[in-house]
Amino acid sequence: MNPLLDTAAECPDFAAFRAEHVAPAIDELLADAEAALEHAVSPAVPADCDSLSRVLDVPVERLRRAWGMVVHLQAVADTPALRDAHAQALPRITDFHTRLGADRRLFAKVKVVAESPAAAGLPPARRKALADALRDFRLGGAELDGLARERFTTIQARMAELSQQFGKNLLDATDDYELYVDPAAMAGVPAHVVEAATADAHAHGRDAARLTLHAPCLVPVLQYAESRALRETIYRANHMLASEFGPAAWDNTAVMRELVHLRDEEARLLGYESYAQLALVPKMARTPPTVERFIADATGRARPHAERDLAGLRRFATEQLGLAELEPWDRTFASEKLRQHRFAFGSDELQQYFTEPQVLLGLFELIEALFDVSVRPATAAVWHDSVRFFELHRAGQRVAGFYLDLYARPGKQSGAWMDETRSRWRRPDGRGLQRPLAHLVCNFAPPRAGRPALLSHDDVITLFHEFGHGLHHMLTQVDELAVSGIAGVEWDAAELPSQFMENFCWEWPVLQRLTAHVDTGQPLPRDLFEKLLAARHFQRGLHVLRGCEYAAFDLRLHSESGAADRIQAIADEVNREIAVLRNPPFMRYPNAFSHLFDGGYAAGYYGYAWAEVLSADAFAAFEEAGLFDRETGRRWREQVLETGGSRSTLESFVAFRGREPRIDAWLRHQGMA
Ligand code: ZN
Repeated sequence: MNPLLDTAAECPDFAAFRAEHVAPAIDELLADAEAALEHAVSPAVPADCDSLSRVLDVPVERLRRAWGMVVHLQAVADTPALRDAHAQALPRITDFHTRLGADRRLFAKVKVVAESPAAAGLPPARRKALADALRDFRLGGAELDGLARERFTTIQARMAELSQQFGKNLLDATDDYELYVDPAAMAGVPAHVVEAATADAHAHGRDAARLTLHAPCLVPVLQYAESRALRETIYRANHMLASEFGPAAWDNTAVMRELVHLRDEEARLLGYESYAQLALVPKMARTPPTVERFIADATGRARPHAERDLAGLRRFATEQLGLAELEPWDRTFASEKLRQHRFAFGSDELQQYFTEPQVLLGLFELIEALFDVSVRPATAAVWHDSVRFFELHRAGQRVAGFYLDLYARPGKQSGAWMDETRSRWRRPDGRGLQRPLAHLVCNFAPPRAGRPALLSHDDVITLFHEFGHGLHHMLTQVDELAVSGIAGVEWDAAELPSQFMENFCWEWPVLQRLTAHVDTGQPLPRDLFEKLLAARHFQRGLHVLRGCEYAAFDLRLHSESGAADRIQAIADEVNREIAVLRNPPFMRYPNAFSHLFDGGYAAGYYGYAWAEVLSADAFAAFEEAGLFDRETGRRWREQVLETGGSRSTLESFVAFRGREPRIDAWLRHQGMA
C-alpha cells in the first residue's frame, strides 16, 4: 500500500514511506485532480457550494496532503532519492495549482454561486471563503481578456525569472568574495572563527585566513575584529554587493528596475494605481495610507529612543574604545562591546536552567491553564525516533494532534516552523469531521551523554512562537477548509498568535515553571532573570527605527510613479528623512534586499512591526487581567484561535480586546514607553 494514497487513516504512515512512492502517487492524484477540474466546470455539476466542494475539493485536498507529506519529509528527513522525486514532481504540482487558480470556467461558476440569492443565506464562514476565492481569482488575472491576459501571463513569468536572477546574482557575488589575511590580523575574533577561516584558506592552498561575506564569518568579524581597517574592508565589500561597484554580470540594478516596472504594470492591468495598492488588497492593513500612517507613527515614537541609543553608543566608543568618530564599520563592533559592558552574563549559565523536559512541561501547563485543553502523549508513526506525538483534548474530546520534532540532525532543513498535515474540515464526502494535525519543527541542539537537552532562551521563544501557530491551526472550530485554522488569515496578521505566545517567555512566574537547573533542579534565580530582562531592550530604538526605514523604502518604491528609475535615490531620501544614522554613500542595500526582490515581502515589509503591535496589545490584556486569567484565556481562544480565517483579523481582535489595536503596549515591550 502506498502511504501517500491512504486517505482513510487519521495520521499519515510516515514509517512506511519510501521515495519510490512519490512518482506513482503523484501521477494518480494529479490525474484525479485534473479530471475533477474538468468535471467541476462541466454542466453536469450544479453551481452550488456543496456540489463543487464534493467534486473538486476532495481530490484537490487529497493531492495537497500527499504532496504536503513529501515536502515535509524532504525538509526533515532528506535523501538523494527523495530530493530527486520531489524535484521531478514539483513543476507539475505548481503548474496544476497555477491553472486551478486562474481557470476562467471555474471562476465563472464560483461567481454564479456567490451571486445567487441562496448565497446570502450561507453561514458566515462559507461566505468569507467564497469572497476570498473570488478575490484570489481576480488578483490571479482570471478576469482579464485578450491582449491584457496574454500580457499578464508574460509579466508573471518574467517576474519569476527576475526574482530568481536577483537571488542568484546576490549569491554569486557573495560566493565570489574572498579576502586572505594573516590570522594575526584577526585579533578579537573568537578562536573558532579564526580556525575555520584558516582551515578554509588551507583548503584553497593558501597559508593564511580566508574571509568571506557569509554570515558565520562576516558577523563575528564586524562584531569582534579589533582591526578597524579590517572591519572597514569587510563592511564596504558587504554593502556594495551585486551593485555597479562589482562585476556587471551580478549587478542587480537593472533587475530591480525591471521588476518594479513590471509590478507597476501588473497592478495597472488589474485596475490598481500602484503595486502597493494591489499587494495590500488581501492584507489586514488594506491601503497604502494606513501603512504610511503606521510607519510614521512608529518612526516618531522610536526616534528619540534611537537618538538616545546612538548618543550612548558614541559616548561609550569615545570614552572606552578611543573611537572619537564612530564610522559605519565601528557600529556593530562598539555595540557588541557596550552590550558586554552593560549586561555581562553568560548565556551558558542561563542555558543550564532551560532543560527540555521542564520547558515542555511548563509550556503544556501554561496552555492547559489558559485555553482549557489538555496535552496527552500518544503514539503515531514517525520519521525519526526522536520525534514525539501528542494529542490535544478539550471538554473530554480529542480535538487535534501534533508531532514534535525538536532536534537538529543531518538531512533536516535548518530553522523552525509549524506546518499543517490535516486541517479541520467538515468533509463533503460523508466522512465526517476531519481533525487538525500539526508539525512543530525546531532545530535545537540534541541531548548529549544521557543528559536532557539544554535550550537557550532564544530556543524557548522559538518553541513558544511555533506553538502559537500550532494552536491557531489546532484549536479552530471552523468547518470550512479554506478558512479554518491559519487558512484564509491575512498575511500581515498571520504572526499574531505566534508572536503573542513569545511574550510569556519574558514573564517571571512563567519562567519559574519553565526552568529546572540540569544539576540541581532549581528554577531560574531572580538576579539572572533581571539581567535577561535588562538586555532585552538593548538598542531597541535603533533597531525599530531601522525597521521603519526599510518599511518606508519598500512602501515608497511600490507606490510612487516612476520609482523604478530612481531606486537608490529613494533609499537615500528615506534614510535622510527617517534614520538617525546616515548611510555611507557607497551603500547599496536595495541591491541585496532579498525580502523585496526575491521573497514575498514587496509592499509588505511593514508586516513585521504590524503583527508585533497586534500581539503586544493582545498580550497586554493578560497583563491587565492577570497572566493566567482564565476568562481572558477563554476570550483569546474563542475570539481569535477558534475563528481562524472565517472573518477578518480586525473583527477577531476587536471581539477579543473590545477595541481596535493600539501601539502603546508594543512600545512598552520595546522599552520605549
Ligand atoms: Zn511565525
